[in-house]
Amino acid sequence: MKILLHMCCGPCSCYPVQNLRAGGHELTGYFFNPNIHPYKEFKQRIDTAMEFGDKAGLAVVADKNYDLRTFLRRALSAEKREETLAEKPRCRMCYAWRLRKTAVYARENGFDAFTSTLFVSPYQLHNVMKDAAEKIARAENIPFFYEDFRTGWDEGVEICKKLELYRQPYCGCIFSEEERYSNRWKKDHKKKMRKLREQKESEA
Ligand code: SF4
Repeated sequence: MKILLHMCCGPCSCYPVQNLRAGGHELTGYFFNPNIHPYKEFKQRIDTAMEFGDKAGLAVVADKNYDLRTFLRRALSAEKREETLAEKPRCRMCYAWRLRKTAVYARENGFDAFTSTLFVSPYQLHNVMKDAAEKIARAENIPFFYEDFRTGWDEGVEICKKLELYRQPYCGCIFSEEERYSNRWKKDHKKKMRKLREQKESEA
């Protein structure tokens, strides 16, 4: 199968590329991640994705447009719209935006299916991404190729070390960078999640 593989970054591509190739699939990488901040980090991740492409013999198409303002507008309105309804509304928007763009590119460029390296990460909301990708596949009329790559997370880390790729210390957006450093955010987040859980339990 000819698959367009959305690449969230070089390191997360290591295992999925190995796994999909072992399954006999023909791959092209697609870098579309306007969530990454600041510009230096955005550039670094594109460069690392391209470096991985060179080392792994993978053709990579990269969207190099640094669309910070659109990301922020979408992220803030997602938080405002859904803050009491769902966990991490910003991330839901972020997944759906990147997956939809990948699906559209795949359909317009003659691929049989699309998928994403996001499915290797144990740190993302895996089922939320899967649901989003399935909905997008139906709406955009292009198959979503699902595989739970998380079983190969450790192997991917080892491949990444061997290839000497840059490994980023945070998910990507400015908010994830804040979350990495802010104890206040961690405390508030815990509180919010507890409240959401209680709310869900009382509705059940
Ligand atoms: S934390 Fe990661 S997935 Fe969530 S909005 Fe930020 S970059 Fe996107």
